[in-house]
Amino acid sequence: MTDLSFPRPNTLSPTPIPCPTVDSLDGILPDEPLLMMGAGPVPIPAAVAHANSVVINHLGDTMARVINQVKTMARYVFQTRSNWVLGVAGPGSAAMEMAVSNLAWPGTRVLSVVNGFFSDRMAEMARRIGATVTTLDVADREIASLDTLARTIERDRPEIVTIVHGETSNTVWNRQLKDIVRIAKAAGALVVVDAVCTLSTMPLDMDAWGIDVVITGGQKGLSSIPGVSLIAFSDDAWDRVRTRTAPNTHWCLDATLAENFWHKAGYHYTAPVSGVLALHEALRLVCTETLEKRFARHQRCSLALQAGIAALGLRLYTPEDCRLNSVVGIEVPAGLTPRDVCHHISRHYQVEISGSFGLPIVRIGQMGEQCREHHLFRTVHALGRTMRDLNAKVDLPAGVAALEESLSASTRDALGASR
Ligand SMILES: *Cc1c(COP(=O)(O)O)cnc(C)c1O
Repeated sequence: MTDLSFPRPNTLSPTPIPCPTVDSLDGILPDEPLLMMGAGPVPIPAAVAHANSVVINHLGDTMARVINQVKTMARYVFQTRSNWVLGVAGPGSAAMEMAVSNLAWPGTRVLSVVNGFFSDRMAEMARRIGATVTTLDVADREIASLDTLARTIERDRPEIVTIVHGETSNTVWNRQLKDIVRIAKAAGALVVVDAVCTLSTMPLDMDAWGIDVVITGGQKGLSSIPGVSLIAFSDDAWDRVRTRTAPNTHWCLDATLAENFWHKAGYHYTAPVSGVLALHEALRLVCTETLEKRFARHQRCSLALQAGIAALGLRLYTPEDCRLNSVVGIEVPAGLTPRDVCHHISRHYQVEISGSFGLPIVRIGQMGEQCREHHLFRTVHALGRTMRDLNAKVDLPAGVAALEESLSASTRDALGASR
């Protein structure tokens, strides 16, 4: 008889993969949890952590109610009446790619205002799609000049303009965002705004400013877990998505397929249910606090932190007129590297802060749960001690005193205002 079985070259000397011996998480995670004060992910509230431990059916009535509330709350946070709010299973970058890949295709004229690492990522995504991309490159620690922007738009006639609200990498705040959007819209472009680190930490009015797409991640301003993100399209942007002829080559990120789940209670892919529940709780806490109070808390805490750092004798990286409050950049004293500082403060003081992609700075986040007074005291203290340990000269008592002084002064102001 003929042997019809496939040849199996390995049958002579099968070497099964041995069962590995590994540590349990208890053996890997630090005994004392680190205080997450870097550029994200940030600490999550107990309600978010609890929701993240629950698994429910990704389809059905319960999920439909959750999704409806997530969209309603997200509209408040984005300040939009647009119907086209969707969640994304993936990091902030997936939401970014959802924006870019649905609005652009080969030959689309895209102008990216590039302030740094993250705003450049949108340009790179558009290039990979085959769009015709030009960039307006803005020097580190500066913001785009409106004149240059207007001239560039006139020259390149972009269909899409991408820009970041807060450039987390070099801690620059595009404080003229509203004017930039106005100029781009007047020239007929759709504007995509990356608000990953700024949404719910500082004012951003999607409808009032005329923004067409806003994207955010979970693990920054919203204080949810990483991996589930949000995106909102304006009616104009959604029309472009709906009427494009060739489908998006990114199947998972195709907004018209995602609409099945986020608007028709149908199936696209299995949604990250626990992460969506976590996001629901994070958004609910934003609504409980209200945006006004949340913005005030962020500003108050970030300014106090900045005062504390300056009084330590350290230099803030970004000039005040374009300084981002959501993430604070600090110059590392001569003779030290960002890595030395981050490593030491984490290992000896259990506070986690960030370096920044080759810049000579460390970054401390002021997003969501990071903006709590007790976290600020611990962080300024840990940073001051770290600098001392590493033989950089700082005035630790002055730093802590300035932090306290700034917090007390803003409390007095708030009390005075409410009388
Ligand atoms: C963190 C961040 C991103 C990237 O988010 P991921 O979740 O890491 O993909 C994009 N843009 C800005 C402004 C960010 O701060």
